[in-house]
Amino acid sequence: MAQDSFWAIIFFTVDNLMSNISLVPFNKIEKEILEYLKQNLSKIFDVEVDERPPIGIPKSYDKRRRQYLSWPFLEALSEIRLSSEYVLGITEVDLFVPQLNFIFGEAAPMLGIAVISLARLRPSFYGLKEDREILKQRALKEAVHELGHLLGLKHCPDPKCVMHFSNTLMDTDIKGYNFCPSCGRKIDIAKKGKFL
Ligand code: ZN
Ligand code: ZN
Repeated sequence: MAQDSFWAIIFFTVDNLMSNISLVPFNKIEKEILEYLKQNLSKIFDVEVDERPPIGIPKSYDKRRRQYLSWPFLEALSEIRLSSEYVLGITEVDLFVPQLNFIFGEAAPMLGIAVISLARLRPSFYGLKEDREILKQRALKEAVHELGHLLGLKHCPDPKCVMHFSNTLMDTDIKGYNFCPSCGRKIDIAKKGKFL
C-alpha cells in the first residue's frame, strides 16, 4: 500500500509560479468540505483559491478491482487547466494506479494538476462512525501534500511534516497539514518561481 504516486520531475515544463489554486469537484462534493479546503489552502499557500464547476467522473471504472483508474482524472483536469494555475481535483470514488492497491491522491507536477480521493479518508470506509471533522482534516492534509508535489517537493522524513509519505491512514493522522521548516523553505522558494 502507498499513499500516493507522484511523477519524478525530470521534464519540468510547467512554470511553477503559483498564481492561484483551482478546486475542481468530480460530480458532487459536499460544500462544507470544499469551503474548508478553500479557506485553509488559501491561508497555507497564501494564494487565491477558486472553485470550478463540477466535471463528470471519467469512465475508468475497473470492475474487477471495483476502483477507478486515476490517470483519466488527471487527464480530464489537464484539459481545463489555465496557464500557471494549480488544479486540484476532488473525488469521492476510490482511485488506483496499476502498481498499487489504492491511492489517496496523485500529482503530475509537470502538468500542474493533482487529484485526491475522499473515499478512504472517511471513517465509514473502515466500518467506523462518520466523522466530518476528521474527514475535513484528512482531506486538507492530502490536498496540501499533493500541492506540495506540484511545487516540486518530494517526500520528507519528518513524520509530522505534511510531505511525509504515509503507508497507512494512521501515518496521515499522525502528520499535520503544515510543512516542516525545511519543506517550508522549499515552498517559499518554489512560490517565487524558482525550480527546486
Ligand atoms: Zn506524496
Ligand atoms: Zn518536511
